[in-house]
Amino acid sequence: MSGWLTDQVAIVTGASTGIGRAVVDRYMAEGVRGVVALDRDAEGLQALGEAHGDRLKTVVGDVREWTAHETAVRTAVSAFGRLDIAVGNAGVFDFHRPLSKYTPESLVAAMDELFAINVRGYLLLALAAREALVETRGSLVFTASVASHEAGGGGVLYVSSKHAVLGLIRRLALEFAPDVRVNGVGPGATLTQLRGTESLGQAQRSLGADREASAARIVPTNPLRLAQEAEDHAGLYVLLASRRDSRAVTGQVILSDGGVGVRPIAPF
Ligand code: NAD
Repeated sequence: MSGWLTDQVAIVTGASTGIGRAVVDRYMAEGVRGVVALDRDAEGLQALGEAHGDRLKTVVGDVREWTAHETAVRTAVSAFGRLDIAVGNAGVFDFHRPLSKYTPESLVAAMDELFAINVRGYLLLALAAREALVETRGSLVFTASVASHEAGGGGVLYVSSKHAVLGLIRRLALEFAPDVRVNGVGPGATLTQLRGTESLGQAQRSLGADREASAARIVPTNPLRLAQEAEDHAGLYVLLASRRDSRAVTGQVILSDGGVGVRPIAPF
């Protein structure tokens, strides 16, 4: 099979559902040699494995833990011989919770959990994958967000965590040059099952639980009037991983949000 990513090897975190799953499916269609999917949702990984057979290896683990990333990198190299692309994507949401709704205790607990997943998880992946990526002159792609740029993309913890992701993309692009490119994709509101934190009792609450109601809420917020699907973003993860087509791109986030940044500030 030939495609944009022929014979390359990738790790994708948060790969069981939503955007991560769409990236795995698309990487497979673009001809990768193999993908290592890391997620804490064992059932979702099993379903992914059934869809992709031998070209998929799974690691059940928590992105807050170093060992999960170390195992994913070791699996990529031992099963497929190399690592070209590491996609940091696992994340949780805060359902737009403002600071005034926290107690000191709930703030500390929720921040520890959300930042450990959304920010530390990406840094641990970068640390674990760096050497293998230097060898192949590969690239890191992180799922940022419209909330990496806009205050209204979540609550105070989510927005600040995704702003932090922008900072680490830019800083790691500097540190890892000239060997490894580091970029991000910034989805706008997307119809996935994105969940909340355990510490706020929102681990079972999900952003897109009622797809119709979510779509009705999302459509008026962007100029293109889109309620996006996970698959809408997947091609950008291909582009940013492609040595042929984005070799001069590093330290950038491509927003995929229906044009939130160009919405009118006055009626016209
Ligand atoms: P999703 O819930 O469908 O996918 C997230 C995946 O991450 C799940 O499979 C989940 O099991 C996994 N995960 C969560 N915490 C984990 C942990 N500690 N260890 C291992 N795996 C873990 O949601 P999604 O919308 O596809 O989210 C993917 C990324 O997209 C996240 O970083 C999210 O912040 C970002 N994002 C989502 C939207 C949106 O509107 N859905 C918008 C912008 C950015």
